[in-house]
Amino acid sequence: MWPSYGLGMRRSASIAIVALLAGCTATQPAASPAPSAPVIAPPQAGYPAGKSAPVADPVYPGFGNPAIDVLHYGLSLAWAPETGTLSGTATVTMRAVSEQPQIRLDFSSAYRIENVTVDGAVHSGTVDGTKLTVPSSLTAGKQTVLVVKYAGKPQPVTMPSHRPDGGTLGLHPVPGGALWTMQEPYGAFTWYPVNDQPSDKALYDITISVPEGWSAVASGTPVPGKGFTYHSADPVASYLTTLAVGKYQHEVVAGPRGLPVHLWTRAKDGHHLPGLRRSPALLTWLEERLGPYPFPTAGVVLVDGTSGMETQQMVTLSGGISQAQLEPVLLHEYAHHWFGNTVTPSTWKDVWLNEGWATYTQWLYQGGLSERIKEARAQDGALRAQAGPPGNPNPGNFAERNVYYCTALLLHEIHQALGDEKFFGLAKAWVQEHRNSVQDRAAFTAFVNRHTGRDFKPLIDKWLDSPTTP
Ligand SMILES: [Zn+2]
Repeated sequence: MWPSYGLGMRRSASIAIVALLAGCTATQPAASPAPSAPVIAPPQAGYPAGKSAPVADPVYPGFGNPAIDVLHYGLSLAWAPETGTLSGTATVTMRAVSEQPQIRLDFSSAYRIENVTVDGAVHSGTVDGTKLTVPSSLTAGKQTVLVVKYAGKPQPVTMPSHRPDGGTLGLHPVPGGALWTMQEPYGAFTWYPVNDQPSDKALYDITISVPEGWSAVASGTPVPGKGFTYHSADPVASYLTTLAVGKYQHEVVAGPRGLPVHLWTRAKDGHHLPGLRRSPALLTWLEERLGPYPFPTAGVVLVDGTSGMETQQMVTLSGGISQAQLEPVLLHEYAHHWFGNTVTPSTWKDVWLNEGWATYTQWLYQGGLSERIKEARAQDGALRAQAGPPGNPNPGNFAERNVYYCTALLLHEIHQALGDEKFFGLAKAWVQEHRNSVQDRAAFTAFVNRHTGRDFKPLIDKWLDSPTTP
């Protein structure tokens, strides 16, 4: 997620330095290669790439169910802009981690459940608060297919944060008929039944039907010839899924190695197109330092709302962003595809693994590093006092600047200790050796120590746990 508090607002002078343009080549707009047709696994294939080891979330224990490992979500959705109604059929293929008396997933009570089946047999399903319960027992290790048919008007929920751009989470209807999402740390449950916790990554196939003249955009690889259909062959954490509906123009620019980069903009976003078309240059800069971009396509969809989110293969970004901020924000959200999307924190205790890396990478790109470090150091103590130490953030202060700035400072300490070559070697190896996985602080620390042959545990723990600036 973008660290700024309200795009274009409340940024301190030096941190807000406009991006220094790196010496990148111009991009080639439009007329670039169409994405190759993805192979969609048949439902009975077992979805081995969707297998996870879910854990309970210590920060937001009300979301996610560690007893269930969802392997694949097949979402067939229809949006009616005129009435503001979302109708959906969710086909959820899951594996029970342990014997369970019932199926419990996160889902919004804003929807009316029309039909539920479990392995083809009709069942009842009820939603109480944010939990869908289907009274069908699960056998440990056995694959089960839950199908839920539902309809209703999406209702966002409050974000547990004081970010001025935070506000609400979930699927947001816009007057006039558009849709957009923001769902970190949770909120996917406002549009489909889901194990809404990052340790349970799963594969996705999402199809959305919208009336003539409207377009629907989702996370994943667009499937040619199938309307608005998106396929995720790499596992996705639920907070990284997105759905946007609007009157969009679509163009594809060629990224590094011919990577298709999909740009979805509305008529009012024309002034951002030159900036968006710099995506290939940003991705090339990141690839040079972090290794190959880890997914088959990239993209950006501009929406209403006030923030930016690194939703997988399709960044969700407020069209209200200033032109000066567009490039650093894009760089930040693309960097998350290495730090957060392919390597995902297993719980929200380790959101610093996302935001520390994305922020530090963004600072390296923007330049003026010593000024930024000085500025962050000056804020560090107050941020810890206000939102908790970055390795143990307060649940009511989700993704506040403590997890961005305080841990970018930690990474700077490691960078200083190792020098450029070893530091970028470490960053690249961490990502490329852990693609499509979930990790935590212990795994990161052990990796750093193994990779460098030095003991960084005291430094890492001090920067993550100390209530005051180390
Ligand atoms: Zn971020």
